[in-house]
Amino acid sequence: MSQQALRADLRSETGFHLSDPLCMTEELRMLREQVRRFVEREVAPHGENWEADGMVPREIFLQMGELGLLGMRHAEEHGGTAMGPLASVVFAEELGRSSFGGFTATVTVHTDMSSPHISISGNEEQKRRYLPDIIAGRKVCAVAVTEPWAGSDVAGLKTRAARDGDSWVINGAKMFITNGVHGDVFIVAARTDPAAKGSRGISLFIVEKGTPGFSVARKLDKHGWLCSDTAELVFQDCRVPAENLLGQEGRGFYAIMGTFQNERLVIGAMASGEAQKAIELTLDYVRSRTAFGGTLWSLQATRQKLAELVSKTAAARALTYQTAALEEAGHDTSRDVSIVKAYAPEVLHEVVHGCLQLHGGTGYMRGTAIERMARDARILMIGGGATEVMLEEVAKRI
Ligand SMILES: Cc1cc2nc3c(=O)[nH]c(=O)nc-3n(C[C@H](O)[C@H](O)[C@H](O)COP(=O)(O)OP(=O)(O)OC[C@H]3O[C@@H](n4cnc5c(N)ncnc54)[C@H](O)[C@@H]3O)c2cc1C
Repeated sequence: MSQQALRADLRSETGFHLSDPLCMTEELRMLREQVRRFVEREVAPHGENWEADGMVPREIFLQMGELGLLGMRHAEEHGGTAMGPLASVVFAEELGRSSFGGFTATVTVHTDMSSPHISISGNEEQKRRYLPDIIAGRKVCAVAVTEPWAGSDVAGLKTRAARDGDSWVINGAKMFITNGVHGDVFIVAARTDPAAKGSRGISLFIVEKGTPGFSVARKLDKHGWLCSDTAELVFQDCRVPAENLLGQEGRGFYAIMGTFQNERLVIGAMASGEAQKAIELTLDYVRSRTAFGGTLWSLQATRQKLAELVSKTAAARALTYQTAALEEAGHDTSRDVSIVKAYAPEVLHEVVHGCLQLHGGTGYMRGTAIERMARDARILMIGGGATEVMLEEVAKRI
C-alpha cells in the first residue's frame, strides 16, 4: 500500500469509537490527544520504511523524549512525570492504534518493561546515572530475562553471575531480546547463587552496550514486529562493576515478577488499541467494497461479525482500564492482570483474523495494514507470559 493510502487509512473517519472509561481524567485525555497526534504525524507516514529497515530510528526516541513521553513512570527529580499505570495504558493503547506493533513494542519495552526496573530497584547513584538519558531518549533500554533454555519458566534461567573482587562476571546467553541490537542499557537477569533452588538466587544487573564480553550473537528474523529489533545476546566473561547490581542480591526473580504486572497491563492496552484500529480499517473497507448488488456492510453476516468483534474489544478494553485503575488505587491486582493478559491478546487475535477475512484477498496481500497487523498480533499471546501460563496464574487464584 502506498504511503499516501496509508495516511488516508489513519485519517479515516468511520465514526467508530468506544466510550471513554469512567477512570479517564482530563490529564489522561490530554495525554491521549498528544500521543494520537504524534502517531499520526511521526509514525504513520514512516512505519512502512521502518519495517523495511528492521528498526525504529533513534530520532523518534529523541522526539518522544522531548515531548516527555518516555518518562511517565519515572520520578520528576530524574526528568520524569511520575504518572501511573493508567497513563501507561493510555500510552500503549494509542501507540497500538498506529497499526505498527513493532514500533509499539520498541517503545513500550523501553518505557514500561525495562527502565522501570531502575526506578523501582535502583539506588540513587544508578537513577542519576541512567534515567536522564533514558527519559530523554538518548539511550534505549532493554530487558534480558529469556534464555534459549528458559522462557515461560523464568526460575529455570541458567546465565550465571559470579562475584570476583569488585566485579561480577557474567556468562550465558539471552534469547528474543527486544531492542537487543540497538539498545544501550540492558537489565540482565542472572543466577548469582547456583546452590539456591528455582526462583531464589537470581539477581539483576545493569549492563551497558560495549562492555567487553557482551555481544549480539545474531539479529533474529521474525514473523511480525518487523521494525522491532530482536536479538540473541551472549555474555562471555563479561565483567561489570559490583555497583551494577540492581536491587538486592538474590531478589531478582521477584523484581521481574513485579515489573511483569505492568508489562502485562501494557500488553492488554496494546491489544485493545490494535483491535480498535483493525476494526476501524475494516469498517472503512466493508462500507466501500461492493458485492452482490450492495456493499459488504449491507450483508447482515458482515455487520454481525463486526458487532461481535467490537463487543469483545470493548470488553477487553474495559477490563484493562478497570485493572489499571485498581492498580493505581493500590489494590492487589495479581489475578486481574493475569486475566487481562490471558484475555486481551486472544481477543486481538480473533479481531485481526476476522478483519482480515472481511478484507478478502486484499487482506492477504503484503502492504495492507491488516495483513501486517495480523502478523504483529500473534506474539502478544506468547510474549510476557503465554496465554496458558496466564491461565495457570488465574487458576491459582480462584
Ligand atoms: C518478538 C519477541 C520479543 C521478545 N522480547 C523479549 C524481551 O525483550 N526480553 C525477554 O526477556 N524476553 C523476550 N521475549 C521472550 C518471551 O517473553 C518468551 O518467548 C515467552 O515468555 C515464552 O517463552 P518461550 O518462548 O521460551 O516458550 P516456552 O516457555 O518454551 O513455552 C512454549 C509454549 O508452551 C506452552 N506453555 C509453556 N508453559 C506452560 C504452562 N505452564 N502450562 C501450559 N502451557 C505452557 C505455551 O503455549 C507456550 O507458548 C520475546 C519473545 C519474542 C518472540
